[in-house]
Amino acid sequence: MDWNGYLDREQARFVDELIDFVRIPSVSAKPENIPDVRRAADWVAARLTRAGAEHAEVLPTAGHPVVCADWLHAGADKPTILIYGHFDVQPAEPLELWRTPPFAPEVRDGCLWGRGASDDKGGMLIPILAVEAMLAATGRLPVNVRFFFEGQEEIGSPDLPPFVAAQRERLKADMIFSADGLQWSPEQPQIVEGLKGLVSLELVVNGPRGDQHSGMQGGGIANPAMALAQLLASMKSADGKITVAGFYDDVVDLTVEDRAAIARIPYDEADYLAESGAHATFGEPGYSTRERLWARPTLDVNGLTSGWQGAGTKTVLPAEARAKITCRLVANQSPERIFDLIAAHVAAHLPQGVTARVERLPGRADPFLVPAGHNASAAAAQVLAEVYGRAPYRTRVGGSIPVMTTLLGELGVHAVMFGFSHGDENLHAPDEFFRLDAFRLGQSAYCRLLERLGAA
Ligand SMILES: [Zn+2]
Repeated sequence: MDWNGYLDREQARFVDELIDFVRIPSVSAKPENIPDVRRAADWVAARLTRAGAEHAEVLPTAGHPVVCADWLHAGADKPTILIYGHFDVQPAEPLELWRTPPFAPEVRDGCLWGRGASDDKGGMLIPILAVEAMLAATGRLPVNVRFFFEGQEEIGSPDLPPFVAAQRERLKADMIFSADGLQWSPEQPQIVEGLKGLVSLELVVNGPRGDQHSGMQGGGIANPAMALAQLLASMKSADGKITVAGFYDDVVDLTVEDRAAIARIPYDEADYLAESGAHATFGEPGYSTRERLWARPTLDVNGLTSGWQGAGTKTVLPAEARAKITCRLVANQSPERIFDLIAAHVAAHLPQGVTARVERLPGRADPFLVPAGHNASAAAAQVLAEVYGRAPYRTRVGGSIPVMTTLLGELGVHAVMFGFSHGDENLHAPDEFFRLDAFRLGQSAYCRLLERLGAA
């Protein structure tokens, strides 16, 4: 029997196994679920072994464990690929908003409903089942495969960087595929090529020792709130371009092909505005809204504090004013360099009569961009085109996925997202579900991917 026949024959069992897996409340954020995260790790290691993977092991970190396994008998002339996913889940609260309990998964309308069904238990089970089918059908795999599944993605993978650094040999691979990823729609595949980075900071402007009487001191000394407003205004032009010197220096410009690929994706401005309720789009001139969302850096104020915040008037001249700022960064900007540029901008534009300091806040991520023509990305795109019958959209995401940059930093390999969840599946929300036809399609896609990589 070929792998496709095996997948068809065993599909009902696979769905039952996914139900078993989703039943484990492996909520990484809650201390009371630490044993459940461990139980999920044990489940994954046992499932890998049953699939025919070797050396399946639950490995400790400073927090939740990691599961690794491999199958390395394809030959030295074949590439080694690393497959990533996570077995921890988001908290399920508020429980009363679930139609059926989050950890009592149920199949309805061709979907499996339960916390983690889509993010990422269904997703990470797909490549395990694909490997099982190929091993069952032919006794071998077309490429060498390593598995790397973590239990702390939903809390930002705090212990992953030291783990990956220490386990570089065990994780060494020519290509990395993440089984934690989204398709554009059930009919339309996508390749996510870029993620934004992040730098967080706070700008603090100080004036007098304490808040002052605005009648006694107003006109005599500078107002830190006004000075802060001037500083913030100096960072952006009225039409939305960031005016911090050097801010755009390291940005990888969109090529003509990049812009054509983005323009090909349907975009409805009214729909886009309806998402937020904003009445107009705004941003850096010279770029479409989607280009700005996906491929241009931002500088935004996230919080402002100064002076009297209560009801009515209090005639103070505040002693201090603060702004929390984050910048979403794109390749090849560095959070540290952008922080330095903003600090230099503040020093150079400091209004008279106040002092200012810029402080780093926790929260940093490097931007991520798969290079054009990347081998793993090209293979993934070809497989998606085959299984969906449509060429994938080339997309980017405004958020960050820390593990992608950790893997790039430590292993020197750009991970390619090859996952089969969808953005409408209530990820991180009540009534999470996973489409079972995407579960099945993903298994074929992984088998085809391994075949294609083995034949290359
Ligand atoms: Zn996920």
